[in-house]
Amino acid sequence: MNIHEHQSKEILRSYGVNVPKGKAAFSVEEAVKVAEEMTDSAVKVVKAQIHAGGRGKAGGVKLAKSVEEVKTYAAELLGKVLKTHQTGPEGKEVHRLLIEEGSKIKKEYYLSFVIDRMTARTVMMASTEGGVEIEKVAAETPEKILKEYIDPAVGLLPFQATRMAYALELPAPAIRKASSLMLKLYDAFVGKDCSLAEINPLVVTEDDDVVALDAKLNFDDSALFRHPDIAAMRDETEEDPKELEAAKENLNYVNLGGDVACMVNGAGLAMATVDILKHYGGDPANFLDVGGDSDPKKIAAAFKIMLEGGQSKGIFVNIFGGINKCDQVAEGIVEAAKIISEDGKSIPVPVVVRLEGTNVERGREILKNTPIKNVIMAETMEGGAREIVRLVNEAKA
Ligand code: GDP
Ligand code: MN
Repeated sequence: MNIHEHQSKEILRSYGVNVPKGKAAFSVEEAVKVAEEMTDSAVKVVKAQIHAGGRGKAGGVKLAKSVEEVKTYAAELLGKVLKTHQTGPEGKEVHRLLIEEGSKIKKEYYLSFVIDRMTARTVMMASTEGGVEIEKVAAETPEKILKEYIDPAVGLLPFQATRMAYALELPAPAIRKASSLMLKLYDAFVGKDCSLAEINPLVVTEDDDVVALDAKLNFDDSALFRHPDIAAMRDETEEDPKELEAAKENLNYVNLGGDVACMVNGAGLAMATVDILKHYGGDPANFLDVGGDSDPKKIAAAFKIMLEGGQSKGIFVNIFGGINKCDQVAEGIVEAAKIISEDGKSIPVPVVVRLEGTNVERGREILKNTPIKNVIMAETMEGGAREIVRLVNEAKA
């Protein structure tokens, strides 16, 4: 799960990490009120809160020299659709802001904790190339990303943090402040079951203070049950509406953005299906594992979600009926047509169905006798994948 920058900073503050003074604002009036209370600093920063980075370049981070300017920027940003390299072309609408005290930056650095799957350890990564896209640094100058691997039995050791601070060639007065910040950030990472804690930029200010100017925390969904405070920070307006609806139906659905939808049982087969669609030149719309439950109502709900918004130009149903029963899946498809179309007999895009396993004969029989026109039976997974990709590409041409 993702949260907003202002929420991440509140959590980090509670662990003693040095973050700028600031507060969230949901309206222009609130933004002005927060700014008026900030008397220590002449410059205030107005930051759009969306679940995506790259806001700086897209005009989502503004430096205001007066309360009046805060008002102007707040009015400009609230309700604006911000397009950054992380939002995709459709962008994200800004519903809240973070108003904080401005910092005088001497230099920007990068600092993060992530789980490294190769070593099965948490790794601390840092770089002198902060503020910019770290993916670019990793691709072009990987030697500029410094790493410390952490033994889970003892955690991040102070000498490792100090070694990293020296490796970053920080100014002498900033060394201890930086290593202390790293240790506190690690505590937060572990304490809150994060999958990512990223500070980009971590800055050294003109008076050699060390400040987390930006903050991004991601959480391990499987551990959320023990962090109700974090679960409560969820902002559903930031999430994919199809994924939210699918979660309510207990479907394992991930929107992949393409136009060839697939409905599969079992996560392994679902991944293999996404791969094979891609292999034949298709652009998968989603990952969808309906699991071992083939209740026709659930199948129908899945169809509805896949078709919503006109995203899918074709659907590939790939079921290996072990626990699932092919006849129930077939009934689900017939049920879906009833819900989706006015005449109860049509699905607006071609559906290629490959069924194998329990009750397969009955399932095929149901689909053969259905009045739904564009259901096509496939004998094999490969043949079915090829067919749906061909039909979708034909429809697009
Ligand atoms: P992102 O672009 O979404 O990652 O947003 P950031 O929070 O990282 O802000 C982008 C950039 O805005 C930073 O890299 C800084 O250069 C600049 N910025 C943010 N806060 C301040 C501030 O308090 N003072 C100054 N001078 N620049 C800031
Ligand atoms: Mn940033």
